[in-house]
Amino acid sequence: MSTTSHSTVQSNVDLQPYNTLQVSAQAHRFANIQSVNELQDILRDLQPKDQPVLVLGGGSNILFADDFDGTVLHVEIEGKEVVKETDKHLWLEIGAGENWHETVRYCVERGWGGIENLSLIPGTVGAAPIQNIGAYGVELEEVFERLEAVELETGNSCTFEKGDCQFGYRDSIFKNELKGQYVVTKVVLRLSKNPTINSSYGAIQSELETRGITEPDISDISDIVIDIRNGKLPNPQTLGNAGSFFKNPVVANELYQRIKESHPGAPGYSMGAAETKVPAGWLIEEAGWKGKTVGNAGTYKQQALVIVNHGGATGAEILALADKIQVAVLEKFCIELGPEVNIID
Ligand SMILES: Cc1cc2nc3c(=O)[nH]c(=O)nc-3n(C[C@H](O)[C@H](O)[C@H](O)COP(=O)(O)OP(=O)(O)OC[C@H]3O[C@@H](n4cnc5c(N)ncnc54)[C@H](O)[C@@H]3O)c2cc1C
Repeated sequence: MSTTSHSTVQSNVDLQPYNTLQVSAQAHRFANIQSVNELQDILRDLQPKDQPVLVLGGGSNILFADDFDGTVLHVEIEGKEVVKETDKHLWLEIGAGENWHETVRYCVERGWGGIENLSLIPGTVGAAPIQNIGAYGVELEEVFERLEAVELETGNSCTFEKGDCQFGYRDSIFKNELKGQYVVTKVVLRLSKNPTINSSYGAIQSELETRGITEPDISDISDIVIDIRNGKLPNPQTLGNAGSFFKNPVVANELYQRIKESHPGAPGYSMGAAETKVPAGWLIEEAGWKGKTVGNAGTYKQQALVIVNHGGATGAEILALADKIQVAVLEKFCIELGPEVNIID
């Protein structure tokens, strides 16, 4: 075991407790990071043989397809501070290692609106901008102000404003051009003191009606989102999973129309004049993969988009299942599913 001035780097650590798919994989080196200084110390001491480096938050959007023969930096930087305030808004700076859902509840309890629809998304605050997390009609970018990050290669700190992040659907510059180059250390969100409720999502609306709530506040929305999610998605603590395994594909309208001819009930959401977003879960189900099991891995019986670990599945087994699903959807619909989960192999 080698040490830097602050943080301890451990050798050969099993990553199973650090990923919600509950896959066992060895990290050659592993360090918990609690401050920017600690991070910079570790980066300064890195030798070529310690590469590559993987930044890890809550491990809820990652598949370890194999052992990781480099250094895993597990971000645990904490802290919440209001850094600016006006009559209408406040800017909350949050440590990257803070739990996302606990942060949502912290804001909801104080009446600060904007992220209540994103309740119960697992993982850390620092990972939220990486794929621009979204759910129930809201995406992170709507409240995102800026983030602070440290460049892995130089150890230098820098700031990314919203315009720098190139946010898209489950996407940002950190999944593309700058993939694997920065550690997010802090995120600043702009929250509303007079929140506008977003109940546009059908399931939220019908739940409000069932509960007889005509003037919902953000805490009603958060509670409803939590209940809906608990009913729909498997709890990763009891059944290993990483949420949606694939992104919902956006296809040309012509292709969608062809699918509609053979499957009149095919769901689709218009994405401007030329394209339609088709739910990946529906495609997988139609391709015959809902609730199927191969070895120790399978798709969730209530939502085909979620790949689950029934116990003891290896990362390679899960990846092989994902490949089979992709091939089946491609053959049936001529649509290539892209993973939402970050595959580490
Ligand atoms: C049951 C379930 C439901 C889910 N529902 C949703 C949903 O509704 N909407 C949604 O968008 N997502 C959802 N997800 C996916 C996941 O929760 C989010 O993507 C979350 O933001 C991942 O956070 P994490 O800390 O676990 O990231 P990790 O899985 O640890 O990492 C994900 C990626 O971000 C990188 N990363 C992590 N932390 C940092 C950092 N500090 N700096 C730089 N890079 C970093 C990693 O290298 C990796 O590439 C769900 C997952 C599960 C298990």
